[in-house]
Order: sequence, then C-alpha cells, then structure tokens
Amino acid sequence: MNWITRIISVADKIKTAVRKRATKSEIAASKYISCHGVPTEKKIIEENNFVCPECNFHHYQTPSQRFDMWFGKNNWTKIDSPKVADPDPYRWEDKKKYTDRLKEAKKITGQDNAILSCEAKINDIDIVVSAVNFKFIGGSISLNEGENVLASVQTAIEKKCPYIFVSGSGGMRMMTNMLSLMQMTRMTIAINELKKNNLPYLVVVASPSTGGLQASIASTGDICIGERGATMAFAGKRIVEATTKTELPNNFQTVEWQMEKGQVDIVLDRKDILPTIEKLLSILLKKNSVISTEENETKKNTQSLSKVAS
Ligand SMILES: [Zn+2]
Repeated sequence: MNWITRIISVADKIKTAVRKRATKSEIAASKYISCHGVPTEKKIIEENNFVCPECNFHHYQTPSQRFDMWFGKNNWTKIDSPKVADPDPYRWEDKKKYTDRLKEAKKITGQDNAILSCEAKINDIDIVVSAVNFKFIGGSISLNEGENVLASVQTAIEKKCPYIFVSGSGGMRMMTNMLSLMQMTRMTIAINELKKNNLPYLVVVASPSTGGLQASIASTGDICIGERGATMAFAGKRIVEATTKTELPNNFQTVEWQMEKGQVDIVLDRKDILPTIEKLLSILLKKNSVISTEENETKKNTQSLSKVAS
C-alpha cells in the first residue's frame, strides 16, 4: 500500500464515522445514554431518579419528575398563573419565529412556561415550590415565567408557608429583551415581600444555573443548597477565562467550588435534598423538629416531668 491508498483509506474511515454520528431524534429514541464513558441503560438511570448508580453523575431531571420524586405522583397541586396577553411584543424572529419556538417548547415539556410551581406538604408542613424546566427554551425567563413566580410567592404568603425555588436556567430570554430583564426586579421584590412576612425561602441550585436568574432570586435564598456537580455561574467559564486571562481550576463554577467561596451553604446528592429541606424547615418553623436542639430537649424534659407529676 503506497501513501496515496493509505490516505484514501483514512479518509473513507473519517467519512464513515461522520456519517454514523447519531441524530438528535436517534439519541432521544435510543435505550442508552453515554455515562462514565460507556453506554448505560436509560431505564437504570431513570429508576435511580436520573442519577447514575455507577459514577453518581446527576443527569437532568425535569420539574414534574422532581415533584413526583419528592411528593409522590398526584401528591402535588399545580399553581396556575395569569397569562400575559401578548408574550411576543417585539415580534421576534431569528432562524425561527419566537411564537413557533414557544409552541415547540410547550409541546416538548407539556408546560405553559419554563417554570412549574406547586403546592405540597412535607413532614406535615405546607410548602410552595417552583422549579425551572431547562428543556423550555433553556429554562430562560420571560413574562409568563415572572408571573408564575409572583403567583407562587403570593400563594406562599397567603398560606403563610415557606417557598422553595429549584433553579436551572440559562438566564433571561433574549427574545423578549428588556421585558425579560425586568422580571429580575419583579421576582426579587416578590421574594422581599416573602421575607417581610418572615417566611423561609430556600434555594436548590440544580444544573445548569446561570445568567440573570442566578443574578437575582436564585442567589437570595436564606439557605442555598447545591445539587452535586451542578454548574452555578453568571457568565460562562470561557468568557471569564478570556476576560481575566487567567487559568481557572477544573471545578470552577461548580456548586462545590461555590461552597468553598461561601456562595452555597451545603452540597448534597439528589436523594438527600428533600430530607435536608424537611429538617431545615422543621427547625426554622419550630415544628415537628427531628433535630435535637436545646429547645426541643427542654420541651421533652418538661413533658416527661409533667407526665411523672401527673
Ligand atoms: Zn455514570
């Protein structure tokens, strides 16, 4: 084989490899997903709440999947929010019309907007939870998403119960421009109202949490819980690297790195998040506390003393 035939055979191999690359729909239809360098059965990962049992990698989990995991199917009630009259005031069009993108996102996720909110109970405590669906135009925030957060916070205030926000967003939606950016202020004002009512506000940072949402309400929680391995950032790593011209560590902008810097309070595996929220809320609300605190011990001792006395 001379050098010309060798080059031709290499070129043929490259062509075959390129041709064989799976399409998006083929990947979606496949029974396997790539994890820890090998094809892994999707079913195995799904049954473990989308966490790989081999390498503990936390795969993406949608809001409804998370609510089902936390509260059980049919044990949570969706909060409906008012819909804005015109979600596309700029008549935005890039490769596609924005209105078509919205239709597509609604079809994929089954949601009206990128945020799904619900009322539920944990450990007999009423709670309101909102979670962002990254599959809805990258979890970006626009007018209807802002309305959803406002309606959910309002529900929490009316019910006098804690509010939990599970972030996972690419930021504010560029198709609605300034009107999206305005939601950062509106949502932050809503959270301030919650805090004025002395109601706990917890944030769970799921991957990826970036941009404007991270620069507003996802950073104002009384307690911030990071989900193992999640990205938490404002601008992306490459942008920071290019701007500051510095070499950044491998774990840069992970919740583990953010915890070292004081931005995150605790990093937990997905399975441990709800039990931890239960404990935190029972302490914050001084209700059904499962934690041995000085106050609980005193209460317990007094109760046993009065039992003996009677
Ligand atoms: Zn894995």
